[in-house]
Amino acid sequence: MLSRRSLVMLPSLSLTTTRPSPLFFFSFTKFPSTNSHTLRLPLLHPTTTTTTTTQFTRPSPLFLFSSLSATSPIHDSSSSTRVSRKASRKAHRESPEGLLKLKLDMCSKHGDVVEALRLYDEALRDGLNLVLLHYNVLLYLCSLDRNRGSHVLNRGFEIFQAMVVNKVVPNEATFTSLARIAAAKEDPEMAFDLIKKMKGFGIVPKLRSYGPALFGFCEKGMAGKAYEVDADMVEAGVVAEEAELSAILKVSGVCNNAHKVYETMHRLRAAVRQVSETTAGVIEDWFKCDEAKKVGLENWDVSKVREGVVRGGGGWHGQGWLGSGEWRVVRTQMDGTGVCQSCGEKLVCIDIDPKETENFASSLTNVACQREVKADFVCFQEWLQRHGPFDAVVDGANVGLINQHSFKFSQLNMVVKKLRQMSPSKRLPLVILHKNRVTGGPAQHPNNKKLLEHWKNSGALYATPLGSNDDWYWLYAAVSGKCLLVTNDEMRDHLFQLLGTSFFPRWKEKHQIRLSFAQREPTLHMPPPYSIVIQESEKGSWHVPTITGDDLETPRQWLCATRPRDTSL
Ligand SMILES: [Zn+2]
Repeated sequence: MLSRRSLVMLPSLSLTTTRPSPLFFFSFTKFPSTNSHTLRLPLLHPTTTTTTTTQFTRPSPLFLFSSLSATSPIHDSSSSTRVSRKASRKAHRESPEGLLKLKLDMCSKHGDVVEALRLYDEALRDGLNLVLLHYNVLLYLCSLDRNRGSHVLNRGFEIFQAMVVNKVVPNEATFTSLARIAAAKEDPEMAFDLIKKMKGFGIVPKLRSYGPALFGFCEKGMAGKAYEVDADMVEAGVVAEEAELSAILKVSGVCNNAHKVYETMHRLRAAVRQVSETTAGVIEDWFKCDEAKKVGLENWDVSKVREGVVRGGGGWHGQGWLGSGEWRVVRTQMDGTGVCQSCGEKLVCIDIDPKETENFASSLTNVACQREVKADFVCFQEWLQRHGPFDAVVDGANVGLINQHSFKFSQLNMVVKKLRQMSPSKRLPLVILHKNRVTGGPAQHPNNKKLLEHWKNSGALYATPLGSNDDWYWLYAAVSGKCLLVTNDEMRDHLFQLLGTSFFPRWKEKHQIRLSFAQREPTLHMPPPYSIVIQESEKGSWHVPTITGDDLETPRQWLCATRPRDTSL
């Protein structure tokens, strides 16, 4: 039996047909055989291993050149014209390689690995010149197979080997597919090795590149190795999301690493805020396990914990597990003021630093000015200066369309009236509507005309110019005016994703009013007076919010974990 290898290996393929040029050296090491084949992988960067028979160097300019020429089998003539380029592209598309790419894309669309492998074998027989795009589709399809003993997975390694032999430079997608194949073979070690090789190639790994190694180690209960992958991710600047943190939390709990559980709970708090049902289950399991009963300070320095709370901005202290004995873990809800219905503790409201809001407003201006006609947006900012401040901003189009097939001014007016009643100064909110909505269609109706005129004369209506995206306008008005925003738009689409995940969700939670209608009467769902984020209290209890759907009537579930109080405190 061979010792555990340190090198990544692939199944061997006959290399007799394509002999690597002297520039391309390969290193093969034996792999513990799972079948009649010996599994091998060409090494992808310089190595001094003694088992090496030949070496594969890092891509030299020649390597890249040969790869590039492989990707462009059809070249323009030196006196290329637009017509000849067009003809060349057409010829490329209709070449056997171009047609193969189209067919492989279809296989990818339908997840048809069997057909893709048949096409690959056919291409080999026909001596086709395969390029990176062909190989990546093939590897991607092979990586979809989750059956450890599957022949398809071995074919994946074989295809990669052919790719290396043919001097095609791999990219991030290549390595990520290979790492997934390794994970399907339940070999997270190999998946991790592939990330290191990827980095050796100067390719920056993505979050998805780390998944196969991280989840593989976590599933095998290899906490130490999982932490190594995690540390590598941090070093590479790849930010773990809920799935990764949840897996680290789980393996840490299983391995009784209370310190890591604590650390990961705080990472979840900072990065994820509200957890899915799966993560809630993992957290629940931790609090119920025997190890959790054993950890915690029985007597702690209250002032130090308070200092921690102040330093952290509220909602957590970071001083470690507090208390002793069994945890009482229940699923519960908060009342309207944020008092836990199970333990009676009150959740805190974590303030937003005004400086953060200002920074956000300026970055919003920058993005809006790039996406919109700058002069129009500047004009709007000046208008706001003259007519503000407002208590609330209304996303008019959204509000007029809630539960409606067509836009209803009457519905919008009901909400505007309600907001005016709520305003301490009885001020009208600012209604933002696209120009089309204030001129054509229902806007022509005499009643609506009158209403629009009233809003306009009161300085409470802004019509965004033709061709604009009104989303930028209502969002900017609410953020810069530090006021409430009325919309049922959850602001999740790509436009809002440009705004990042660190500040925007926190801002939304504190400023968005959502609406529901019963018998055409609007109900305003105000922002909660407490923060919907994992909270660690000064007494050591934990409250973990779960994600809710868009149904406003379904109350949010919280996980409450408390310990018996020490009455002497
Ligand atoms: Zn509670």
